[in-house]
Amino acid sequence: MAAEARVFIGIGSNLGDRAAHVGFATTRLSRLPRTRLLRVSPWYLSKAVGPGAQGDYLNGVAELRSTLTPYTLLQALHDIERAAGRIRAERWGPRTLDLDLLLHGQTCVDVPRLQVPHPRLAERNFVVFPLSDLAPSLMLPGGQRLQSLRARMSDGDLERLGSAGGTHDGAA
Ligand code: AMP
Repeated sequence: MAAEARVFIGIGSNLGDRAAHVGFATTRLSRLPRTRLLRVSPWYLSKAVGPGAQGDYLNGVAELRSTLTPYTLLQALHDIERAAGRIRAERWGPRTLDLDLLLHGQTCVDVPRLQVPHPRLAERNFVVFPLSDLAPSLMLPGGQRLQSLRARMSDGDLERLGSAGGTHDGAA
């Protein structure tokens, strides 16, 4: 049996009932095989980056332990997005649910369909802030400290919505 990796998933929604979509995502993450959902960060509101007028995003991060490979996890994330009614239309367009594999332990993957750590992790305050709520002393693959990344990052328009996350009881 493969060793359990410490996995972080970015969760976002800016279309329809955003709270229901991110809630659906955490429930489905808690039911993945060979995986335990440990905690969910507080939720944040962030401005959409993308074409046209779009609603604000509801963003957070989930912490898992999993023996699934990064590739199997990516497939599972796509299945959950689809089940939440996501249609892959324009890039950066509005979406009911967006799930990103942010980190998979210290593993690095760089193939066309998957890059881990997520290539835009370090430039997104709506990822770095909730991630550091969960794991302030995290060291990223390559040796960068999450804390120093956060210290240099502006919270901009990011709005923290209080501690709606916390420990997850439904862990398998
Ligand atoms: P998006 O439209 O932002 O959900 O981008 C999805 C595309 O990014 C998919 O085709 C994935 O295969 C690809 N991708 C590459 N690396 C990752 C990652 N770490 N997490 C999620 N999707 C990824």
